Amino acid sequence: MSNVSICGIAKSYQPDVPVLQPIDLNIPDGELFFLLGPSGCGKSTLLRIIAGLVKPNCGKILFDGEDITELPPEKRRTAMVFQNYALWPHLTVFENVAFGLRSEGADKETVKREVEAALAVVQLSDFAKRKVTSLSGGQQQRVALARALAVKPRLLLLDEPLSNLDARLRDEMRCEIRRICKEKHLTAVYVTHDRNEALSMADRIAVMHNGVLQQVGTPQKIYGKPRNSFVAKFLGDTNLLRTEAGLISIRPECIRIGDAGEVKAELVSGTYLGDHSEWVFCTEAGEKLLVTEYAPPPRSAGETFFLSFDESRKVLLEE
Ligand code: ADP
Ligand code: MG
Repeated sequence: MSNVSICGIAKSYQPDVPVLQPIDLNIPDGELFFLLGPSGCGKSTLLRIIAGLVKPNCGKILFDGEDITELPPEKRRTAMVFQNYALWPHLTVFENVAFGLRSEGADKETVKREVEAALAVVQLSDFAKRKVTSLSGGQQQRVALARALAVKPRLLLLDEPLSNLDARLRDEMRCEIRRICKEKHLTAVYVTHDRNEALSMADRIAVMHNGVLQQVGTPQKIYGKPRNSFVAKFLGDTNLLRTEAGLISIRPECIRIGDAGEVKAELVSGTYLGDHSEWVFCTEAGEKLLVTEYAPPPRSAGETFFLSFDESRKVLLEE
C-alpha cells in the first residue's frame, strides 16, 4: 500500500469562498485514517482531491514520495466507496466487481481469480451470479467494497459508506471494514460525520471544521485531550468551565457524585438509561453541570450533593 502526504492543499470552488484552508497531513502506510466533521466542512472535497476528481487551487499530494498532483484519477490507483454504492443495477455481483479490472484490460483468468478473491473477503462468494438489485443494502455495500478491493488499490477512499444502512448493519459493517483493512494492510481514508464510527474504527482521526483541520490524533487523544471547544463538543457531551487558568473541558463521566467534594450542587433533572443515568446539576455559582453515572442509584431532583472532578481528565482548551 501507500504512504500519503498532503502538502498545503487548499480549495475554493468560487473566488473568496475557501472550502479548504491549506491542509498538511501525513498518512502512513497501512493506516485507517478518518476525516471527521460536520456536513459541509470540506471532507468530501479533500477526499475527491486525493482521488483526482477535484483539482486543488494549490498544494501537492504525494503517494510514497511521488508527486501525483497532476495525475488523472485513473492513473492514481485509488478506489472509492460511496454512500449510495454506485453499482450497475443491470449487472450481476460478479460483473460489478469485475468492472474495474476489465476496464484496466485484465485477462479473463485474472478477472475470475481477483473477483473471486474479493468476494471471499467480503463473504459474498455465494452471491456472484445474483443481480445486485436483489441484494440487501448491506450486501450491496459489500459488493461496492469488493469492487474497490479487486483492483488492488494503493489507497482505499470511503465517503460515508455506511450512512444508508440501518443501525444494526452499520455496527456489523464497521467491524467488517476495519477487519478487511487490517487483514489486507490497506491504507484508507474514511470520511464520516459520525463520531462513533470514527472513534470505534480509526487508527487516527482528523477533526475538520470550516475547511480547517482542528486536531489530528488517535481516538483516545481526540476524545480525551481535545485541543479546543469545537473538538471537545463534536466528540461527545462535555462541560466547559471558565476558571482562572482559562477554559476547561471535563467529560460528564469524569465527575463523581458524593457527600464530600469540590463543588456543592443541586440536582435539577435526570434521564435514566438503564446502565447509566445522565444527571443535570446546578452549582451554587449557577453553572450547569452534566454528569454521567454508571449503575445509578435513584436520586431526586432538588437534593444537594458534592461533585468531585477527576483532575487528570480536566483539559485546558486553546481559545
Ligand atoms: P462535506 O463532505 O464535509 O459535507 P463538501 O466537501 O461536500 O463537505 O463541501 C464543502 C463545501 O463546498 C460546501 O459548502 C459545499 O456546498 C461546497 N461545494 C462542494 N462541492 C462543490 C462544487 N462542485 N461546486 C461548488 N461548491 C461546492
Ligand atoms: Mg461529504
